[in-house]
Order: sequence, then structure tokens, then C-alpha cells
Amino acid sequence: MIPFSGNPLDRASEKRVDRDWLEAKRRDPSSYILPMWKLQPFLLGPENARDRLEAGFLRPGLCEPLAGPDGVCILLGLEGDSAYFALDISAAADPANVGPLAGLGHFREMRGASMLLPAKDTAILGQAKAVIDWHQRHGFCPRCGARTALADAGYKRVCNECKTEHFPRTDPVVIMLATHSDSCLVGRGKQFPRAMFSALAGFIEPGETIEEAVRREIHEEAGVVTGNVTYFATQPWPFPSSLMIGCFAEATSRDIKVDESELAEARWVERSVVRAILNGDQSHGFWLPPSIAIAHHLIRSWAEK
Ligand SMILES: [Zn+2]
Repeated sequence: MIPFSGNPLDRASEKRVDRDWLEAKRRDPSSYILPMWKLQPFLLGPENARDRLEAGFLRPGLCEPLAGPDGVCILLGLEGDSAYFALDISAAADPANVGPLAGLGHFREMRGASMLLPAKDTAILGQAKAVIDWHQRHGFCPRCGARTALADAGYKRVCNECKTEHFPRTDPVVIMLATHSDSCLVGRGKQFPRAMFSALAGFIEPGETIEEAVRREIHEEAGVVTGNVTYFATQPWPFPSSLMIGCFAEATSRDIKVDESELAEARWVERSVVRAILNGDQSHGFWLPPSIAIAHHLIRSWAEK
């Protein structure tokens, strides 16, 4: 399972406009509320208990006083009759240590949390993080500058003045492995940790297909010309709100010309070397992305063919 995918909740979008239902569910003892503090999800258990952590879904009535009057509350969805909400309690000063949550758990940065929790929890927390992050950045209308207000259980904001509706955005990003006979093309971004190589990636631009963006990005970043593009899988990536679209692209030549404003280095790597590195061989002097990233799964899928 690719992390942040496989969300088990029924998003129940038809319920988002039913205010009475939402109010009742927010108080219903069968519901769960996930506190988010400064975009960090709440996890049950102490910080050092790596193997006993759980996502901090709480019963109603515990964390709500921490949210303050403007605390964003969003409906994540339903599991059976149980409703799941996320509540932004960023207004609280130190909620892990002071107030009703003290001693129950801690807040952890989303990447770190995703490496410790079951896949289905990671997917739900990623949804919560992406939507709350969007609310924090869209308090004002881009059309007229007036304040906006939450609507539809968190899946819309409406401008208080011009009434324009704004919806949570998802930014499509292509991430692709160019291949040529028995080699694949990996690059080291300028911001990467030293010796980490990954698949190339870039935002899709307006007016572009996925295939066109794949070919353009590989050519821009590494100077490599590619032809046939095939789809692999996608990954919701809540940093802040991307959809990573994994693809393979068949290169028509191996000539590399790196765009130094984007990449520090790009190189072709033999399949046997990729396999060895994925199996823990450290003798090649570089490593590949960890399993939180779709790049890892893209590269592994090719390597194990
Ligand atoms: Zn407006």
C-alpha cells in the first residue's frame, strides 16, 4: 500500500450540507474527533513509544474547548454509523501538556506520524492535514480580499462580500521514472540530502496532459527525450495538497544534460544496482527514497519486473 492512499472512510458528501445532522454527529458518542495542532495530528501514547502509537481519534466532548470560536472542524467521513471529524486546535498554547489532553498523547509532524501508524490511519490523517492546511491559507477571498467563511463541513469557503465559492485544491504533480533498456534515470535534487537519488518530478501546468508534463519535465531537468508514457499509480501527498501521479517513460536516448537550477546531478542506473540498493546494499555510495514516497514504489516496481 502506498502511504496516504487507501482511505477507508465513506466521505458522505451528501451529508455536508445537513447542518442538523452534522451538529448531532459532533455530539454523538459514537463519533470520533481528531485534534490537529499547528498541522500536527494528535497521537495517543508517549512520544518515545514507537510501537504502541495510535491515531488520536477521541470521543466528542474532550478536545472541543481547545479549539476556540474560530477552530475549523471538518467532516472526514463515515465508517458504518460512526462519523469522523478533524478539529483545528492551533489556538491552544500547549495542548499536549496543559488541559484535557495532557498525559494522553502528543502531537507529531505528519511525515513522522505516517511512518509509525497503520496505513488506513495515515490516509485519514493525510486527508485531515490537507483540508485544515487549506483553510489556514484561505481565510481571505482571492477575488475581492474580504474574509471567507467555512461551509459544507469544511469542503468549501464562501466569501462574506462577493459570495464567491472556493474549494480545497489538489495540485497534480507528475513523478516519473525514465527507462532505457535495463537502466532507469534518477536525479538528485539540489535540496536533497547528499547521495539521495529519486525519480524526477514536477507540477503539471495549465493546458498540459499528464503525458506531456512527464516528457517536458524529464527533458527540462535532465535533457533526456522520452516517448511512450505509462501510468503506474497515484498518491495523495498532503504537503500541502498535491496528488503525485506516478508514471514510467521510455527514453529514446541516454544523453543527459542537467538543468543545474533544478538538479545537482542525474544518472542512469542499472536494474541490478537498483535491486541491490533496495535490498539494503550500501556499497554503491547512494540511496533511494524511503517507502513513504511513491518514488520508492515506482522504482521498486520497475526493479522487480
Ligand atoms: Zn470575495
